[in-house]
Amino acid sequence: MIPAEMWAAAAADIDPLNTEAQGVGSQNPGSQNPGSQNLEAQNLAGYYPPSKTGLRGDHVGCSETMHRVRDGVFWADAPKAIETGESYDLVIVGGGISGLAAAHFFRKVAGEKARILILENHDDFGGHAKRNEFRAGNAMRLGFGGTYSIESPAPYSATAKSLIEELGIDVPSYPKYVDKNLYRSFGLKPRIFFDKETFGTDKLVINGLHQGSDESGLNDHDADARTIFLKEAPLTDKAKLDFPRLFASDRDYLPGLSSDEKKARLARISYARYLAEVMGVSDEIIKLLQAFPHPLFGVGIDAVAAQDAWGLGLPGFAGLKLEPGPGKGMNRDCIPNEEAERYFFHFPDGNATIARLLVRQLIPGAISGNSASDVVLAKADYSKLDEAPSPVRIRLNSTVVKVQHRGAPESAKEVEITYFSDKALKTVRAANCVLACWHVVIPYIASELSVAQKQALASAQKVPLLYNNVLMRNWTAFQKLETRAIYCPGMYHTSVNLDLPVSIGGYECAKKPDEPIVVHMMKAACHPGKPARDQHRLGRIALYSTTFETYERNIREQLARMLGAGGFDPARDILEITVNRWPHGYAYEYNSLFDQFWLEGGEQPCQVARKPFGRIAIANADADAYAYTDCAIDQAYRAVRELNRS
Ligand SMILES: Cc1cc2nc3c(=O)[nH]c(=O)nc-3n(C[C@H](O)[C@H](O)[C@H](O)COP(=O)(O)OP(=O)(O)OC[C@H]3O[C@@H](n4cnc5c(N)ncnc54)[C@H](O)[C@@H]3O)c2cc1C
Repeated sequence: MIPAEMWAAAAADIDPLNTEAQGVGSQNPGSQNPGSQNLEAQNLAGYYPPSKTGLRGDHVGCSETMHRVRDGVFWADAPKAIETGESYDLVIVGGGISGLAAAHFFRKVAGEKARILILENHDDFGGHAKRNEFRAGNAMRLGFGGTYSIESPAPYSATAKSLIEELGIDVPSYPKYVDKNLYRSFGLKPRIFFDKETFGTDKLVINGLHQGSDESGLNDHDADARTIFLKEAPLTDKAKLDFPRLFASDRDYLPGLSSDEKKARLARISYARYLAEVMGVSDEIIKLLQAFPHPLFGVGIDAVAAQDAWGLGLPGFAGLKLEPGPGKGMNRDCIPNEEAERYFFHFPDGNATIARLLVRQLIPGAISGNSASDVVLAKADYSKLDEAPSPVRIRLNSTVVKVQHRGAPESAKEVEITYFSDKALKTVRAANCVLACWHVVIPYIASELSVAQKQALASAQKVPLLYNNVLMRNWTAFQKLETRAIYCPGMYHTSVNLDLPVSIGGYECAKKPDEPIVVHMMKAACHPGKPARDQHRLGRIALYSTTFETYERNIREQLARMLGAGGFDPARDILEITVNRWPHGYAYEYNSLFDQFWLEGGEQPCQVARKPFGRIAIANADADAYAYTDCAIDQAYRAVRELNRS
């Protein structure tokens, strides 16, 4: 058992009852328990969440009930629970990929007749794997509202790989579907937008940091990029001298230390401090690199260890001559692995396709077809998700507020699960229960757990992110400005990308600049300068308290400013906006700057957190503190195995 003090620092904000520390304001303070979300019933004709625009992701209505439970006010005015009389072999809390995969694995053991209920607080299944569907005239345009692709820093486990294959996804066939030369054929290149507030002037410049290719398969190689960048970038002379120094290999900035000693030093200092204090580069360079790790960690280089930056291939380390291989405390995302890099597949709706394939397998009538490509255009029939005769049922808009054994956990034969939906509190019973929801939720709904386990669960922060999709009338402005991907380190959204040109299963991506396209805009809601967990907590508050109108204004203003010179007019060219707000985004991954236990080894909080108790097992990507789909699958598999052992 891990001594509590070892991760006391990490757990500074983990008092499960400390609502301020959890950092999410209730949206209905003091009000009566609202109806779970005032959403339509999923069995009504026309119920089709993927085509909803506006505020999606953790949409309005999905979190309020749980926030009231957290704030200790839910039970005071809760209605009397209604016993539905329903009884299942397994109830799963959370309909993300982990919950859906748990249902899949349970059926492998218990058979296809096993009765399973999945309870999900969102209006759609899939969790972070969310499909955004748009119409532009006759054309359908898909976007990923969250989970973008099959990819992971380490190779998929045999378990995760075999599930992907069983679903019919042929990962090595990805190059067949992506048009890797499309954007290059129009002269589009990755660029950096320098903004006036941060760099003194608004200017779009070729991206001298981009390494020429990435796993998405697009051909971006440009041998001259760095030279052109240095000519065009609005940087001072000092910064222009510093920039090539980042890549030079003739100076060891940590002389006299062995490779291991250097790695140990780098694990304890942020990349920003390494650049400033060890290399002495100018502040402008630090500002330029600040947002580089946003897509990976939801924080900037102020909160990423220099050792991790080295692993990611960021510049500044060539002269240190570090031995290949990770040092102690290196983040798993930063350990290069060729096999893992090759295992990549992007569906137009991201990993929502995995969720949809799982649902099709669990409830065949809900989504037609029989291949991983025909599912891309197949429309889900939500009225089929929760039908009494079906052995597997998915009940949306249902927030689980309590799970408790009927009797002592060691000997009970059943668990009672209480959920709130449509203003009513209801109970179901099950022989087994998998909690595939976020770990921070579990201490509030599973009172039987020990304090140590609750603390470990509550330490699983979530990383707040915005994944916004903008349907544009065309992409002629991108063509004129010769770009497809813009890194904008000083702006509200720090990356703006044209959709990946993937055509599959009859779905056709935009091929000509005058065709409608989805543009993806990402923001990490971070607060540079603070410890990562504090940044995430503050970011969650910011995302929950920002209105759609503000998000929309930020999107329009940023696009107008960046693309205006290409003739872009937001009033004319923006057709739809979907803001996927994820205050509870990525699973928090341990960080050698802030999590002492991660440097020292030994039992990790997630290992304490995921221990089974009685008839209840715990899944979700949080269970291995690793923000990837393979983790969500692996943890579902482990949870189901644990149930079968009890
Ligand atoms: C914006 C974004 C982009 C990502 N991109 C990638 C990527 O490209 N590749 C990758 O591998 N991973 C990616 N991830 C990581 C992603 O989290 C995992 O891949 C995976 O989808 C996690 O699945 P999960 O089931 O563990 O969690 P989730 O998807 O979070 O599902 C858990 C579900 O439980 C529900 N829940 C919580 N509390 C309750 C309750 N009380 N009652 C009922 N339901 C409840 C939640 O609302 C949620 O729907 C991304 C994550 C985010 C946020």
